[in-house]
Amino acid sequence: MMSALHSNQSLRACVQCLYRSTHPFGLQFNSDGLCTGCITHREKFELDWDARFAELQQLVSRRKRRNRNRHYDCVVPIRGTPEYFYVMDVVKNRLGMNPLAVSYNSQFNSEVGIQNIDRIRDTFDLDVLIYSSNATTYKKLVRESLVRFSNMRWPYLAGESVFPVQVAVERDIPLVVWPYHQATEQVGMHSYTETPEMSRRNRAQFDLLGIEPGELTSSETLVSESDVWDLEYPSDQALVRTGLRGIYLSNFLPWDSRRYSEEMISRFGALGAKSLRTFDTYDRIDDMTYMGVHDVLKFYLHGYSRVTDNLSREIRFGRINREDALAVERHYQAEYPKEEIKLFLDWLGMEYSAFEWYAGRMPFFAERSHMAPLSRSAESFVSGFTSNASPVNESKTFILYGKGLHLND
Ligand SMILES: [Zn+2]
Repeated sequence: MMSALHSNQSLRACVQCLYRSTHPFGLQFNSDGLCTGCITHREKFELDWDARFAELQQLVSRRKRRNRNRHYDCVVPIRGTPEYFYVMDVVKNRLGMNPLAVSYNSQFNSEVGIQNIDRIRDTFDLDVLIYSSNATTYKKLVRESLVRFSNMRWPYLAGESVFPVQVAVERDIPLVVWPYHQATEQVGMHSYTETPEMSRRNRAQFDLLGIEPGELTSSETLVSESDVWDLEYPSDQALVRTGLRGIYLSNFLPWDSRRYSEEMISRFGALGAKSLRTFDTYDRIDDMTYMGVHDVLKFYLHGYSRVTDNLSREIRFGRINREDALAVERHYQAEYPKEEIKLFLDWLGMEYSAFEWYAGRMPFFAERSHMAPLSRSAESFVSGFTSNASPVNESKTFILYGKGLHLND
């Protein structure tokens, strides 16, 4: 188990958003008590975004000249959420590229996630490459990262962050297009004008929580090198040979997940759905465990959860005040999805009592409380999010591929 990295003594909160100094990406504050995430966010209102988009167009045309793949211009990772319609709309319709869409199978797919992937493929007439690792190995890795790092998502994060890079190298396609750089969006790691790009180091530090695949294969575990072979980042030689660059669209557009998602729902029929532990009906709705077991563990480990991320974004865009946001945060953090956690534990082959034992030893473990009702203004904020599909956790099984194939049947 990971020990408490931050004592409550050093706990500091931003005066604007809901992030505290316990954020795992690291947060700093200016003399007014404003966090680096909020400071960087101001650039969304201040930069000349038309000029930045023109820079993107130039970058893309330079990449095209370098391309040795005769068919595809770039690799674009997709997930079954409305935001990825937006990514494709930019790549295909605004930049005029021919992308190869790739998707790493989380194996915890929701119905709405599968439907969104289908709709992205149909709407933009795409070739889609999906990679699913075998269930035995995947389960072994999920169990290992849960027990050792209190995080059940590491295997997915590792696969999702490397599969597009591997495909680009194998097919000699010199560009991967990601939506945003998470550490910049949340804690303002870089200014947008620094234009951070994908790198092995960035993947290890932020996507993989500082844990490299090789670290899972120490002698005291059952994980061997052959279990993580497909999670290794391509060699520097291979990257140089391909001339590969991985860019984030959020450096060229004032990224706003909510606004983009709502635009995609109205323009292309993207689907939003009610989730657990948050009001946001667009974020991570493709995965039945993200807002369930993963979010509960995130709260116990770091003292905040995904609703904090969602609310911090909404505060920074001026769409909710701090007082309402704190009430909404408390409300959703009290939601405890026991049945959904049990579904995951059944899949993993772990007893609920063992999970409770682990959870009880985590640094921010808290006894459960009931969900206090929301004020009228908080309620009206929450009802502004669209759900036009069945709830994320309506199905009682994880969906492996499309209709009819379930993991735990
Ligand atoms: Zn802040």
